[in-house]
Amino acid sequence: MEHTSRKTKPTFFSLQALVLVLAIVGATSRVAAQAGAGETVIQKATEQFDSSPLKTIPLAKGLFLFSGDGGDITAVVDRGSTLLIDSGMDTRAVELNDAVFKATMRPVTRLVNTHWHFDHTGGNVFFGSSGVTIIAQENVKKQLSSVQDVPFIGLRDGHYPEQALPTVTYSSSMALRQGSQRLTLANYGPAHTDGDTIIYIAPANVVVVGDIFSNAFYPIIDLTSGGSIDGLILSVDRILAQTDEQTKIFPGHGPVATRADLQAYRDMLAQVRQRIKALITAGKTMDEAVATAPTKDFDAKWGSGYVTPDVFTKIVFSSLTGSSASR
Ligand SMILES: [Zn+2]
Repeated sequence: MEHTSRKTKPTFFSLQALVLVLAIVGATSRVAAQAGAGETVIQKATEQFDSSPLKTIPLAKGLFLFSGDGGDITAVVDRGSTLLIDSGMDTRAVELNDAVFKATMRPVTRLVNTHWHFDHTGGNVFFGSSGVTIIAQENVKKQLSSVQDVPFIGLRDGHYPEQALPTVTYSSSMALRQGSQRLTLANYGPAHTDGDTIIYIAPANVVVVGDIFSNAFYPIIDLTSGGSIDGLILSVDRILAQTDEQTKIFPGHGPVATRADLQAYRDMLAQVRQRIKALITAGKTMDEAVATAPTKDFDAKWGSGYVTPDVFTKIVFSSLTGSSASR
């Protein structure tokens, strides 16, 4: 194994310490809790992401998944560098970087963000400060550049410092190479947010889908950031059309999935959408719709994540009516 030395080690470590302090200070102020009874979706998720063990999962030659410190993170390794997809929680960036280096033995030189949410971009300050090139769909740069408020899930975040912002952006698609792997970055319009990136990796036959699909939970659809149930279903359809039975689906959260898992998710989304649409047509209010438990037969499979059946119903209802969802 070739050895990659860090010639700038002392500077690197003092920078790490500084970034860590900033990250800890930032974490409490940037992801603010929402007042009121009960925990918000984001409070529950943040507690989980700050305390879950970080797991390294080798998946193929030069391909790793890191799971536990926020959204799933993918590493694609070539002879001299590591390309990272998503950067986890800001509180755990140093731990992530150590785990990535231990697994890949290559420094991270490029980072792709699947979307702007804090559990996928939290490490941007750390990696951006270390000179890593950050790549994302163009709306991610806009969102990270200002304060974002997503009240119905209790998320308030931003704005991120200059060094955490993407420096390379694209609109609908972009091609990258990492050693023998070809990466195709694609945005199919607003889905989970309005800045989602789906990354096809070939010949590995992997697709990294970010929070368009979590395995296996009801999704957050960030309506405030332009997301919608119809856009989400459309993006999933485009992914299904671009993949085959052998494709490995790397989700935003949870274990690696199959195309059949993604198809089952698509079917659930479409059925829940149809049922809630019928309730809206019948004149039901949001609370009345929730009371009919339109997701009931799906809850055993999809309802144990931080998006409860009631919250998911409210999100879909709001998406279809254009109203703003309450908690
Ligand atoms: Zn997200």
